Amino acid sequence: MTSSIEFAPASQLQHVGAEHRVGRGLVGALEQSVTFSTERIDELPVYARLSNTHNHAEVCSVIAALHCADEALVFSSGIAAIHAVMTSLLQPGDHILVQENCYGATQGLCQKILARWGIESTFAPLEEWHKHLRSNTRVLFYETISNPYCIVQDVRLALQAKRTSGALLVCDNTFASPINCTPLVEGVDVVVESATKYLNGHSDLVCGAVACQRSLAEQIAAQAMYVGGFLSTTGCMQLLKGMRTLNVRMQAHNETGRIFAARAAELAGVERVYHGSLQAESFPWMRGYSGMLAIRFAAQVDVPRLMRCLKMVSDVPSLGGTETTACLPWWTTNRWMSDAEKHALGIDEQLVRLSLGLENVDDLLSDLRAALARSEC
Ligand code: PLP
Repeated sequence: MTSSIEFAPASQLQHVGAEHRVGRGLVGALEQSVTFSTERIDELPVYARLSNTHNHAEVCSVIAALHCADEALVFSSGIAAIHAVMTSLLQPGDHILVQENCYGATQGLCQKILARWGIESTFAPLEEWHKHLRSNTRVLFYETISNPYCIVQDVRLALQAKRTSGALLVCDNTFASPINCTPLVEGVDVVVESATKYLNGHSDLVCGAVACQRSLAEQIAAQAMYVGGFLSTTGCMQLLKGMRTLNVRMQAHNETGRIFAARAAELAGVERVYHGSLQAESFPWMRGYSGMLAIRFAAQVDVPRLMRCLKMVSDVPSLGGTETTACLPWWTTNRWMSDAEKHALGIDEQLVRLSLGLENVDDLLSDLRAALARSEC
């Protein structure tokens, strides 16, 4: 498949970058060699750390097609991808404006690493971004669906700030995946994803992805080759295999998320459910809200006990797999913050973030009902 634009994501996921199949294997070959000889002496060396092997090209072409990007890059983790983007787009003396209540390690990266290199960060809700723009604001960073609250963010506010400031707009699309949202199409400059989550989808690989237009991709890659965070060739193959089912998985996650959120909100012991389908506004740029949701349980629910009583839900700090998982942001994603900082963000011990898997939704709801009945104290 040479031109991917006219095909739907379901087809792109099976065929983009697969020209090598003609007369060869149905599945691309894993090239385990760290390096390859080139035709001409003056060509750029092919070397796995430079992310320019056949395996890198194949997986990156699929991610770029899904995001309608010129190019994609794959990294050894989502946070490596975010680090590569931020550090290649920012210089000492610059300012980055970040959505408040974003993924904890993104906040940590800004406060603990970027700060040491003279880059200041401000965290604010998108509604207040216009008040925090500075003459040296070079990057704006937000999440399509925020972590841990699973609230859909308003891309129109982010675009407004981009227009006013001229800064580059970066979006972490991890919770949505390119099936549910393509931020570049909306006007975002760079999209990053923890491919560990929905893109790979099987909880067996840590990796990250970046997609954007060519000149920005070259800028990011030119720095990353000196830092060494690109994904390995075996990782590329494994990610591509996981991605083949991305479309069907996301359709199932969207449907389960929608049904589970509506019914869980009615259960005794549940104070509030956060899921895109329950938000009052409409979001025309979203095609679904995934299986990510957050639940605030009432004070009488003993949440640690509830977690132990759930039979189909593993209490782990990751998400986006085929099996349902849950985590308590207080103890996981935001654990490095002080109690006061967590409370200021509305994060307490009654908040649980759920990643619904591919199980039957009625079974998941029955499991929650039974666990709730056993965990009120
Ligand atoms: N972005 C979001 C929204 C995440 O939830 C995570 C991890 O949970 C990351 C980025 C970082 O990804 P990784 O764990 O692959 O480094």
